Amino acid sequence: MKITIMGPPGGGKGTQAEMLEKRFAIPHISTGAIIRKAISERTPLGLAAQDYIAKGDLVPDDVVISMVKERLAEPDCEAGYILDGFPRTIPQAEAMESMGINLDCALEIRVDDEDIVQRLGGRRECSVCAAPYHVRYNPPKTEGKCDKCGGELIRRADDAAETVRERLSVYHAQTEPLRRFYQERSLLRTAKGCEELADTTKNVLEALGVN
Ligand SMILES: [Zn+2]
Repeated sequence: MKITIMGPPGGGKGTQAEMLEKRFAIPHISTGAIIRKAISERTPLGLAAQDYIAKGDLVPDDVVISMVKERLAEPDCEAGYILDGFPRTIPQAEAMESMGINLDCALEIRVDDEDIVQRLGGRRECSVCAAPYHVRYNPPKTEGKCDKCGGELIRRADDAAETVRERLSVYHAQTEPLRRFYQERSLLRTAKGCEELADTTKNVLEALGVN
């Protein structure tokens, strides 16, 4: 199964990608991880990417596409893969097609923006050991205190409602053209992301036509 997974920040995309990775024994490939690995191994593409990052620029499409192509040629990708964060743009999606890399589907995890704002707004992190909590889904035994070390729990700045709404609008602007691209090719599958992990998993498997 060759898929790309899309979903808003805080929408459970990473968790679902891990679930699919285990269930189908295919690798979960994130562009960020590919770029970091190429840089640490000092491959020619890694060195090229590092130059852009050092200048504060985005790694250009042709470099990212070449890295993804190399990664997908590795033996563990023969049975399929879950791409995460790629393609991010229409030129990347078109480049994949022209290289003969054809996906079975593009899976979108859909969550209402306000639900995301609520979910992320409830996240807390220990200021000492960074253990994650959620006021509703994973509360500490004592309010405001870390179970593990007693440290004070804080909210990260990027979980503030304003910031989350900004991140969501960037996500939608980026994703909408890709949704249309895959919809035109009848490859778009949509699964509703729910509060309960098991419900999201069920929706994802249904969307992919697996039971
Ligand atoms: Zn702690």
